[in-house]
Amino acid sequence: MRETKSQLKERTEKIIKLLKRAHPDAKCALHHSNAFELLIATILSAQCTDERVNKVTADLFRKYRKPEDYLKVPATELQEDIRTTGFFVAYGKAEGVVVDTHVSRLSHRLKLTKQKDAGKIEKDLMEIVPRKNWIEFAHLLIFHGRRICKARRPLCEPCVVEELCPSSILKTGKVPKS
Ligand code: SF4
Repeated sequence: MRETKSQLKERTEKIIKLLKRAHPDAKCALHHSNAFELLIATILSAQCTDERVNKVTADLFRKYRKPEDYLKVPATELQEDIRTTGFFVAYGKAEGVVVDTHVSRLSHRLKLTKQKDAGKIEKDLMEIVPRKNWIEFAHLLIFHGRRICKARRPLCEPCVVEELCPSSILKTGKVPKS
């Protein structure tokens, strides 16, 4: 039977609860001291490693302390300041759910979305994940993806959300797509 939106929301909240218990250390590896810095670091991290972002933001956050500071400099200067991240900052990106390779893979395996495009996956997740959990949800999926729901061979047996996961090897008998 097809899962309704409210059943999907309910299942997602159960997944969040179980993942929080399994990964209490799931937190952002990006250095930041406020929500605005976290937003900037998260945007930059779409194109490179967290380590690279932390190196760049060490100087960036000394120079740019508030949103207006980014608007004061010529675009070329800002571009140069973040050049090594491979990203030219997307001004005005709204707060949402960060979708990286882990979030995308786990969202498919958990059947939280059918979309392939990161922007569309994010939109689906924003509809079913409570707003207060948006940032945390991405961290939980990233940690779970690194430790348990690995791309090539997910460890479904010890997985805390196995009962809520339609793609579990224990149910389907085959390794889900990565
Ligand atoms: S049951 Fe398996 S496929 Fe589903 S989330 Fe857990 S590890 Fe991933």
